[in-house]
Amino acid sequence: MSTDSYAAADRPIALTAPSGIDREAHNRLDEAWLAAAWSHPTTRVFVVSGGQALIDEPADSTDGRTELVMTPAFEAPVTETHRYFLGTDEDGVRYFALQKDSLPGRMDQSARPAGLREAGLLLSPRDAGLLVHAVALENWQRLHRFCSRCGERTVIAAAGHIRRCQACGAEHYPRTDPAVIMLVTDDEDRALLGRQVHWPEGRFSTLAGFVEPGESIEQSVRREVREEVGVTVGDVQYVASQPWPFPSSLMLGFTAQATSSEITVDGEEIHEARWFSREDLRAAFESGEVLPPYGISIAARLIELWYGKPLPRPGDVL
Ligand SMILES: [Zn+2]
Repeated sequence: MSTDSYAAADRPIALTAPSGIDREAHNRLDEAWLAAAWSHPTTRVFVVSGGQALIDEPADSTDGRTELVMTPAFEAPVTETHRYFLGTDEDGVRYFALQKDSLPGRMDQSARPAGLREAGLLLSPRDAGLLVHAVALENWQRLHRFCSRCGERTVIAAAGHIRRCQACGAEHYPRTDPAVIMLVTDDEDRALLGRQVHWPEGRFSTLAGFVEPGESIEQSVRREVREEVGVTVGDVQYVASQPWPFPSSLMLGFTAQATSSEITVDGEEIHEARWFSREDLRAAFESGEVLPPYGISIAARLIELWYGKPLPRPGDVL
């Protein structure tokens, strides 16, 4: 890895910047505390629905700043909703998300619905952190309405952070499924990038996969690379992680050192894979043969760390 000329810390990975929110998990089971927090005049509420929330550029914004559209709790539509307590900021402001079947009508013409893939690039760390928390809870709630122990219905508890079975008493907690994502390099410091079967022509990225039961994450990295492209991997180094609630993953990012170079793609997940030197990749971006990766994913950052400078964005003049 050659990262001398490019400090990763300059640009935090999307969805991982410190959000300044204290989740106050110890208060989630205190109904009286939650009721008081909800009715406090400074409390702010936003609606989450289908992984989306309303975002807006405030009228006084001069820098393109985008915010979650939030209201005081007393203005929030509470019927038939699920209420998630997300935490408290440094100023003592408390935040809730309301899960609803649809987003509310737009109070402001400029407000619009957005999911995390878009909003994660636009919102402040505070708002992005609130949205990723709410979307992760919503996804988990939606998929865990029935008890996995006895099959009966579960009900929401702990301000969105537990589902409780009223038949057998089981308590179910939000799931976070570990997944590994890795930039593999060889002894010539070339990077291995692959194209998934369903991706458009020209889109290449890092390899990735789920950690299986009974596996360490290092074993998972080596197995996924061997299965997908037939390359063996030795040293595995952790880089960073990223919440990835699509619907419930935690992406664990690595660099991995290949100990073989011959590529044999599996044809099921990976359609094509290639070794790129930095010069190869720069030339492929310039010719349009490879599309610059762009978006919230840690994949782009892992590639960037190796590339040594920011990757071009779609539409950049190269
Ligand atoms: Zn049960």
